[in-house]
Amino acid sequence: MRIVLFLVLVSFGCKRREEPQPRQAPGSGSAGANVAAAKGHDAIARVDFNKYAVRLNLPVYWIADANNNKTIEPDETAALLFYGSEAKWVDGGKYTPAFEDAYGKIVAASKAPIDTSTPDGKRRALVAADLDAGRASLVRSDFSGAPDGDKAFVKQMIGVADLIDKLYETQNGSVALAKSLPADPESHSLFRRNRGPKCVAPNTENDPACTAIPGAAKPIVDVYPADIQGKDGFCKDLEKRKDADALLGHFTVVSKDYKAVPYSEAYKDQMTAIAQALSAAAKGMTDPAEKALVEYLNAAAASFGSNNWDPADEAWAKMNVDNSKWFVRVGPDETYWEPCAHKAGFHLSFAKINQGSKQWQQKLVPVQQEMEQAIAELAGPPYKARKVTFHLPDFIDIIVNAGDDRPPLGATIGQSLPNWGPVANQGRGRTVAMVNINTDPDSRAGRKAQAESMLDAASMKLYPATTEPGLLSTILHEATHNLGPAHEYKVGGKPAELVFGGPIASMMEELKAQTGALFLLDFLRKKQLISDEMATGSFVDCIVWAFGHISQGMYTGDHSRKAYGNLAAIQIGYLIDKGALTWDANAMAANGTDKGAYTVHADKLVGVAQELMKEVAGIKSRGDKAAAEKLIARYVDAETVVPHKIISERFLRHPKPSFVYSVAW
Ligand SMILES: [Zn+2]
Repeated sequence: MRIVLFLVLVSFGCKRREEPQPRQAPGSGSAGANVAAAKGHDAIARVDFNKYAVRLNLPVYWIADANNNKTIEPDETAALLFYGSEAKWVDGGKYTPAFEDAYGKIVAASKAPIDTSTPDGKRRALVAADLDAGRASLVRSDFSGAPDGDKAFVKQMIGVADLIDKLYETQNGSVALAKSLPADPESHSLFRRNRGPKCVAPNTENDPACTAIPGAAKPIVDVYPADIQGKDGFCKDLEKRKDADALLGHFTVVSKDYKAVPYSEAYKDQMTAIAQALSAAAKGMTDPAEKALVEYLNAAAASFGSNNWDPADEAWAKMNVDNSKWFVRVGPDETYWEPCAHKAGFHLSFAKINQGSKQWQQKLVPVQQEMEQAIAELAGPPYKARKVTFHLPDFIDIIVNAGDDRPPLGATIGQSLPNWGPVANQGRGRTVAMVNINTDPDSRAGRKAQAESMLDAASMKLYPATTEPGLLSTILHEATHNLGPAHEYKVGGKPAELVFGGPIASMMEELKAQTGALFLLDFLRKKQLISDEMATGSFVDCIVWAFGHISQGMYTGDHSRKAYGNLAAIQIGYLIDKGALTWDANAMAANGTDKGAYTVHADKLVGVAQELMKEVAGIKSRGDKAAAEKLIARYVDAETVVPHKIISERFLRHPKPSFVYSVAW
């Protein structure tokens, strides 16, 4: 299970935009480039450079204007991964002709609005709007000073990432559509970024005209028969079948004649190639200190052949912050990507271990059994406290995410795996927090501006000035996935996904985890493991996180439930109903411009968090589907308590981060 980041970046285009003397006519390509080269590279502001590079599907990124001279320079330029082509923008400290060409195109595009007088022009403009709703945000790793062995390993894993991308895009049905893409760069960029033709931003995802492929807005996923997917409720039909248990296994494809075909048969060629690439990476790793990593890579390679993921999980669980400096997780894990939330999507998370996790582990591991006890007491029967032996999150610095791990907007910032099998059942899984994802100054300033649009000035005093309280909520969210009624818990012999249906089961598990992030704050504060300020700051950070997810909407364009949006609305609604958050239509928001704001009542947070934990853990313990549906009806599907529209309007003024990746060699 994972937690998804919501944050935004500031839009400071107006301040930085420069409009120097008129340039070449739009679309004049390399002629424009020559002008740019002759004049230097100050024709476009950084924010617009990065925006139009995305629109043109060019793998180039202006990292920062480090010397503040409003001119992009070679050492401020990154080449991006996962664009399907490699680009060399800088050679020997100087720009290449390819860069000059790209620069000219970017400047020209910024001055030439899309012609919307034709139907296809209208479509392209919608596609551009969907792209613009994400602001490219760079995840950059510097291996320029690393040993040759490290560089070689990173290159091998990037090769694995490309193979995983292809396999995931086969699963989600987008590979089958690629040949229908029109020629324009916006459509190619959307298809690449969104992992298919669908628009995904809140203001465009429900518009059927917003698609990279005219007439094919909805991909047909490869894991279910094509002919049933047009029908609303096809997931429920599958779940009602007598052979549902067999058909809806996590690592199989449902064939046309309703047989469960193992992934290793359905995707034999691709999985064989990945197995070989993993074996090669294991062989290439000659560092004697990386024995645990080599064992995992070999075990994972074998699992790609056998479709039995338990041995890979066993080897993976043996890796830790002390026996490897790398973090690798490769295989099929999460089910959020497909409409029925049963089939695991392939992904690769590749990162370096960050040693910062050790201080939190030292604080929390000694009290983990007490945490389980506290949550079990609130859950009530039939759930009984069990022995928990999970590992608290390891901190990792992401190098690349591939497959199901690279969403178009936002990013996974925490994850607890595996979801199934003996390693999960026996609490031997690993949990990670991706700590290099949301710490850049642009992101933090943007998120604060959003908070200031919803909360009053007094409440903003509680908003944390550092990233540590946000990190703590990620740690506690992931920890809580291991506490109380979890994935393997059964009511009357039935797992949660058959009790609640897949999407509500996923949502309730995430709601439990995120409610743990609120409830456990006071538990830790009472034990003096965290300060009062940290507890309140983390709570307020969670409130802003929840507003962010609410602003993104409750359902995707194809009416799939958004687990985080739903849980966020339930939490905010609950805080409102219990008086911990109060709205004053005449109060001024902290930004001084929005009328109508919330006040956070810090003295009520602890009590409400406990009540909500009791409600949520109780619903999971009893398999109380009616109670879950009641929460959904009141807070998710109605505007009466949670002002969905106001939250969206205020938060969506800021684009969401769309993460791009680069490695400096
Ligand atoms: Zn989660």
